[in-house]
Amino acid sequence: MNTPPKIWLSSPHMGGEELSYIHEAFDENWIAPLGPNVTNFEIELQNTLYTNKEVVALSSGTAAIHLALIMLGVGRDDIVLCQSMTFSASANPIIYQGAKPVFIDSEEDTWNLCPIALEEGIKHCIQLGKKPKAIIAVHLYGMPYKHNEIKALSEQYDIPVVEDAAEALGSKYKDAHCGTLGDIGILSFNGNKIITTSGGGALICNTKALKDEAVFLATQAKDDAPHYEHSRLGFNYRLSNISAGIGRGQLKVLDQRVRQKKEIYNYYADALIDLPGIKFLAPQADTFNNHWLSTIIVDPKASNGVTREDIRLALNQENIESRPLWKPMHLQPFYKDALYFGGDVAAQLFENGLCLPSDTKMSSSDLQRVVTVIKELFK
Ligand SMILES: *Cc1c(COP(=O)(O)O)cnc(C)c1O
Repeated sequence: MNTPPKIWLSSPHMGGEELSYIHEAFDENWIAPLGPNVTNFEIELQNTLYTNKEVVALSSGTAAIHLALIMLGVGRDDIVLCQSMTFSASANPIIYQGAKPVFIDSEEDTWNLCPIALEEGIKHCIQLGKKPKAIIAVHLYGMPYKHNEIKALSEQYDIPVVEDAAEALGSKYKDAHCGTLGDIGILSFNGNKIITTSGGGALICNTKALKDEAVFLATQAKDDAPHYEHSRLGFNYRLSNISAGIGRGQLKVLDQRVRQKKEIYNYYADALIDLPGIKFLAPQADTFNNHWLSTIIVDPKASNGVTREDIRLALNQENIESRPLWKPMHLQPFYKDALYFGGDVAAQLFENGLCLPSDTKMSSSDLQRVVTVIKELFK
């Protein structure tokens, strides 16, 4: 039997104009981690986000989180509170700085930071005489976290927020674009994200002085001198002018990709909502979700015994990629000694949650293939 064509979770989807920016870079020999594509990508991102904040193009979202922590003064043995339910890249930079992560459970409504568990964690650390240096909040799968609640705690306890919007370019909380909500925001343009630069990221900050600091740190922290003089530890974290060219082409199709992601989500929601035990994350008031990945929760007590793993394996059999939700950091072997506050919301989401193929290159017959496999299991 022939293997049916592969359906991907979320793969790069070029818009068509990317190569012209790359050709320009070659024609002008801007083959470097600076140049007109980098400068213009930053301006175009700023326009996309409708913000006066400053944008710094970087080599990855991980690099952006690392620089954000450095700029907020996170150092050895400091505590950083971090959403447990996320990709490891949200938390790893805490370790790069020799600091200690304290993980926080998710809430049911958004799957993001639970404000109650967050406050518990803050109070506990303060009682130990270690006020946390930062809070890392994540808009998982494009669903905005509850910014008002998190912001209130951030102000009450005077702890800045690093907003991990890696999965949420195009999402909004009230009228503000995700990425512009935190004291420092970060974006990712990795190959699996809603738009890609092949690899890349951005840091969004409040002032020109902070942008200058981020660029300084990202280009090896070279002091002003004719020779190479360094008074701080530097990094090689700037985005290349070639990658930024891909980003400029991709920004032109961001609105289109957001529309396509929404159509994919709507298709699944219409087709699967009547199956017993299958739930979708309910839309939240005053938020706009970019639906980077469409996700379902499968309750095996209500689904006649069908589990999310049954669905994943059945899809895999048909050459269709799907994936369990992020495994929470407090359950990861690497982070087994970290403190954790909350209950088992994140653990349950991991147990029963599945990301469905959300590739914008899928045709309607591809979507039909996915749905048919799932429905078959419930017959
Ligand atoms: C992808 C991702 C990152 C890391 O971005 P990279 O550009 O891959 O380094 C960070 N946080 C979350 C939630 C992500 O999904």
